Amino acid sequence: MRPVELRFGDLRVEGWSRAGDDNWFRVHPPGLALDVGRGALQLAGAQDVFLSHGHLDHAMGLPFVLSQRSLHRLVHTRVFCPLEMAEPLGAFIAAAERMERAKYRYEILPLASGDRVEVGRGLHVEAFATDHVVPTLGYHLWRGRRRLAPDYTGLPREELIALRERGVETSEVAEDLWLSYCADTGPAIFECEPRIFGSRVLMMECTFLGEEHRDKGERFKHLHLGDIAQRAGEFRNEAIVLHHLSRRFRVEDLRAEVNRRLPELALRIHILVEGTAG
Ligand SMILES: [Zn+2]
Ligand SMILES: [Zn+2]
Repeated sequence: MRPVELRFGDLRVEGWSRAGDDNWFRVHPPGLALDVGRGALQLAGAQDVFLSHGHLDHAMGLPFVLSQRSLHRLVHTRVFCPLEMAEPLGAFIAAAERMERAKYRYEILPLASGDRVEVGRGLHVEAFATDHVVPTLGYHLWRGRRRLAPDYTGLPREELIALRERGVETSEVAEDLWLSYCADTGPAIFECEPRIFGSRVLMMECTFLGEEHRDKGERFKHLHLGDIAQRAGEFRNEAIVLHHLSRRFRVEDLRAEVNRRLPELALRIHILVEGTAG
């Protein structure tokens, strides 16, 4: 399977996604992994791995990724996951180490909603709870950038230089929500985590479509295209990446439904894994 690559300005997302099959992404910068699917080779470069939940189409590949990283003598891996799955995850990896008679270099760092982790210069990941059938975390990627503090805007350059020479701090760090990954979630996410409407790049699952499946999103704690259409006016994102489509549907059918039901958003919507044989 050839992964898909999407670019949004300085941000690059590669990955693959199909519900109940294989779901993983790498986000550059800083090169971190969001879920590991069944264990793609492309994930071996990721020093930080953020697992959303324990369903195997998202988490099964972790021992393989850690094994590959040990094989290539790559540095220690940080594995972040919801608090509730940390213990069985540790046992799962330990069983793989025993089978391989190997020791992987990693640590499991359990997270709860609201926790923040530094993942690179000026980059932080923040966990948030989603609406799924097992404990699940989504992740925000925050980018901090230095800018002139509002008190000093409009001052001539020479004056700013003089102030700085006198030791006055004329800049401040402004954070912007660069990407939000909603993992697996039902429609309650829109009430629980409304900040997703304002992130530059929103990665959102869309498992179901079609009228005969309309109640399945709520029932199975996934999103149906109708749940997204109901909120169409609220998405302020520059780009929306839809992923996690059930294998029951064709990607072309999702694109056709997006064009029909969300014409105002259609140009900003990217579908994983559109344009591939998947
Ligand atoms: Zn899933
Ligand atoms: Zn799931």
